[in-house]
Amino acid sequence: MSSVSGAHGFQLKAPKSPLLPCALPALEPRADEVVVEVAGCGVCHTDIGFAFEGVPTRHPLPLILGHEISGRVAAAGENCLGSLGQSVIVPAVIPCGECAACRSGRATICRKQFMPGNDGDGGFATHVLLPARGLCRVPESLPSGLRLEMLSVVADAVTTPYEAIRRSGLSPDDVAVVVGVGGVGGFGVQIAAALGAAVAAIDIDRERLDLAAQHGAGMVLDASSTDLKGLKAAVRSFSKECGRKGIGLKIFEMSGSPAGQATAFGLLDHGAYLAVVGFTPRPIELRFSNLMAFDATARGNWGCPPEQYPAALQLVLDGKVALAPYVELHPLAEAPAILEAVAQHSLRRRAILTPDHHKNKPGVERTP
Ligand SMILES: [Zn+2]
Ligand SMILES: [Zn+2]
Repeated sequence: MSSVSGAHGFQLKAPKSPLLPCALPALEPRADEVVVEVAGCGVCHTDIGFAFEGVPTRHPLPLILGHEISGRVAAAGENCLGSLGQSVIVPAVIPCGECAACRSGRATICRKQFMPGNDGDGGFATHVLLPARGLCRVPESLPSGLRLEMLSVVADAVTTPYEAIRRSGLSPDDVAVVVGVGGVGGFGVQIAAALGAAVAAIDIDRERLDLAAQHGAGMVLDASSTDLKGLKAAVRSFSKECGRKGIGLKIFEMSGSPAGQATAFGLLDHGAYLAVVGFTPRPIELRFSNLMAFDATARGNWGCPPEQYPAALQLVLDGKVALAPYVELHPLAEAPAILEAVAQHSLRRRAILTPDHHKNKPGVERTP
């Protein structure tokens, strides 16, 4: 048995209020649980929904948010002592592993899943108590330019588009169209390119498009100055020029905006595959029959099963998916201001909160 005392973090006490600092009670993992010393925790739009848009968390408030966590196992229950000291990425959604959905290979729809920062305290803290299931081990020595805290965004921001792309069966014969190349789509472009596809990137932000052009996109299209007809024509000639044999476009909606969704749906062609990765609560009007007329497929995915994490991580370790141009690190102490900034869209990159473990070292106590 071991436990961690002196941990602290930032809590959401009530919807639409700033995060407040809080001390955690001693964290004592049960047999199948671990305490992870957080190296970094990415700030996701889902956190903004909880904090500022009144989206309810499944666990009642107060709650520590944050579900993109990397760190080191600082304490472990008796069934997972082997993980002590390991560097890990915590899956954003941890399935129970036992229910009918989990047993039939549909772990992402497990109703007993644990999402840190939603079903229990999350990673905007020095430490987090979690089920040990599904932790993705990270090698102790990382390629230059990569740090454990940066790998936090592999949970969710990299793995969710990875799973969408994996499910699409994307191959080097295909043309992938990624709509929305921000915090998630920027990784989607790189993953699709790493799998050998020719990638067209669509966004309304010039800077994001420029970055996508440097990291995987063979063509970028500015939807703020090109209408759907123009986008379709450009994608068609791109497909022709790059000479891929794949039938039908593989379209990935990663903007989570009504306009992006309309664009993605509007690009459907014969045999197309549309993956819905982004989320918006706002509805849009579609001619649904286009799916039928084009013999097309549309599919969504809620996160990524833990067993796919190592393959997604490998793309990052191999340098095929660059994280550095897409993330920025901020001290955990600035959590309330950083969440506000993310909500106001005033940060250009995905924010990662990093606790200062040297300044305020909580005690790890081992008892027999
Ligand atoms: Zn998220
Ligand atoms: Zn389950």
